[in-house]
Amino acid sequence: MSLKKELVEICHKVYSKGFVAAYDGNLSLRTPDNTVLITRSGVCKGDVNEKDIVEIDYDGNLISGSAKISTENKIHLFLYQNRNDVNAVIHCHPVYTTAIATSRNILDQPVFPEVVLTIGRIPLCEYATPSTDGLIESMKPFVDFASVFLLQNHGVVAAGKNITQAYFFMEKLEHTAKILINAELLGGTNKIPAEKLLELYSIAEKTYGLQIRDANKFIE
Ligand SMILES: [Zn+2]
Repeated sequence: MSLKKELVEICHKVYSKGFVAAYDGNLSLRTPDNTVLITRSGVCKGDVNEKDIVEIDYDGNLISGSAKISTENKIHLFLYQNRNDVNAVIHCHPVYTTAIATSRNILDQPVFPEVVLTIGRIPLCEYATPSTDGLIESMKPFVDFASVFLLQNHGVVAAGKNITQAYFFMEKLEHTAKILINAELLGGTNKIPAEKLLELYSIAEKTYGLQIRDANKFIE
């Protein structure tokens, strides 16, 4: 499948899942030629087709395609410039995760073993005006280790080694946000105790060769 087609399919998926409304969100991936394919501005992700994808360089200059580049292209380029392991970026406004990003960050705590192992830390970036350099500044403290970034009073960014992984980070995050909000309604969540976390990290490392980035911040 062509990269453009892959990107179009994930656009349709994020819209059908309700991770975006109206013209919200933007999605991109890095090509083997070190260019970036990104959704144009002002298109509903449920209606995106290959003509709505533009190709840009790392400075945001248009290489091919005739449409207006997404105004949030800075977030995407910032991640490609700073993370060699990132080849796809998705920015959405999923309801439950954005509710948490607008209220209190209950996502950045070790509650579910598989979330700790796959997503790791879930930082909240300080509020900044959309499409400005302020947004990049707010992500800087976490760029070395995070796969997902909550944007305060705004939404979420997920970064993956490919578009499928970035999508699954977004889906898993929203699923976790739903569970945690429900758990809060039931009276609160229990965290994984520190010694059990160490046990989990050790199994992850020995069995799966996984290194948990910035894991020590979960150990109090
Ligand atoms: Zn947004």
